Amino acid sequence: MKKSKSQKRAQKQKQAKKTLATKQHEINRKKKVLKLPDFITCNECGGRAPNSTFEVLNTKGLDGIDLALTGICSECNSATIAISGDPEAASAMMAAFSEEMGEGKIGLEAVKLS
Ligand SMILES: [Zn+2]
Repeated sequence: MKKSKSQKRAQKQKQAKKTLATKQHEINRKKKVLKLPDFITCNECGGRAPNSTFEVLNTKGLDGIDLALTGICSECNSATIAISGDPEAASAMMAAFSEEMGEGKIGLEAVKLS
């Protein structure tokens, strides 16, 4: 059966609504990202990992950690981790990460986020 024009239009509207919802979702996501620093400093070369490369890590269940994120240095392409939270908890998380990634393979930075 061929779809009538009104059916087609309804479908289009549905699609538009979906697109809008996705956009709104992205805006919400970006709002969250805005709280992040503009960049984190690469521990390998001192370059910058811009927040467009950030990936927020799941820190649920990690006591004392407010936020942990990784970024890719725009200078040397190294992954850098920034952790915000209780200094002890942050250094413990960093230690766990360096063990996992192998020392020297990943730059770590403790950041203070407001
Ligand atoms: Zn670098």
